[in-house]
Amino acid sequence: MACNGDCSNCNSKEKAAEDCRLKSVMQNIKHKIVVMSGKGGVGKSTVAVNLAVSLALAGNSVGLLDVDIHGPSVPQMLKLGNTGVMMDGDMILPQEIGSLKVVSLGFMFDDPDGAIIWRGPMKIGVIKQFLTDVAWGELDYLVIDSPPGTGDEPLTICQLLDGEKGAVIVTTPQLVAANDVAKSLNFCNQLEFPVLGLVENMSGFVCPDCGKVTEIFSAGAGENLAERFGVKLLAKIPIDPVICQGGDDGTPFVQRFAKSVPGKIFEEMVSKLFA
Ligand code: ADP
Repeated sequence: MACNGDCSNCNSKEKAAEDCRLKSVMQNIKHKIVVMSGKGGVGKSTVAVNLAVSLALAGNSVGLLDVDIHGPSVPQMLKLGNTGVMMDGDMILPQEIGSLKVVSLGFMFDDPDGAIIWRGPMKIGVIKQFLTDVAWGELDYLVIDSPPGTGDEPLTICQLLDGEKGAVIVTTPQLVAANDVAKSLNFCNQLEFPVLGLVENMSGFVCPDCGKVTEIFSAGAGENLAERFGVKLLAKIPIDPVICQGGDDGTPFVQRFAKSVPGKIFEEMVSKLFA
C-alpha cells in the first residue's frame, strides 16, 4: 500500500532528522542559560535581555531566544520591529543587533495586543521548533527567556538543551513570589538541571534624594532561598525607574545606564555567573 507520509516509519525518520538538527544547533552553542521563574511579572524578561546584552557588550557572541509564549516582551525591550519570522530555507533567521542575535515568538504575531490561545501540544511544538530550527551559527552564550511556572513549556526547554547549561532563577523579595520560585528550584533539582544562581529583583527602592532604602515588598527572600537550596545569590537588583524606562524605550539599562546603581550590580552579577 502506498505510504501517505504518516506511517510510524516516516514519523521515526522525521523524529531522527529533528533530533539530528537539534544536536547540531546545540553543538555550536557553548553555554545555554535559561532564565526562569515560578511567577510572572518578577522581571524575568528584564534579566534575560540585560544578561544577553551584558554578555554581548563583553565581546561574546550571544543569542537571545524569547519563548515566553503569553508575554514575549523582548521585541519591545530591544525595540525590534515586527518583521515576521525571517526564514532561510527551513531555518529561522535571528535579527541582529551587533553581536547579539535575537529570536522572539513575538515576531510571529502582527498584533502585540492579541492573546495567544494555544493548547499545550501547540505550545510545545512551537518551543521545540524555536530550539531546533534557528540558524544561530556559533555562539558563546544562548540566553533563553522561558515562560513562567513549572509546566510543560519550561520542561520542554530543559529537556531539549544539551551540553553546558544552567538556570538563572528570578524572584522578588516577598513570600508570595518566593513560594512559587521555590517550586522552580525544586523543578530544576528534579530534572537535574543545574542552577547557576538566583536573582532577587525589585529588591527595595533607593530614594534618589536621600539614599534611604525602602523595602517596598518585604526583604530576604533571595537570601533565604539561596541558603535553603544551596545556590548562589547572584544579585539583588533594586526597583529603579531607569530599569523600567529602559524596558519601555527598548534601550537596555546595562547599555544606556551602565553607570547607574543597577547597571553596576548587573555587571557584578554577570561576572559571578560562571565564577
Ligand atoms: P516578567 O518577564 O517576569 O513578566 P518583566 O521583565 O516583563 O517581567 O518586568 C515587568 C515590568 O517590570 C517591566 O515593565 C519591567 O521594565 C519592570 N521592571 C522589572 N524589574 C524592575 C526593576 N528592578 N525596577 C523597575 N522596574 C522593573
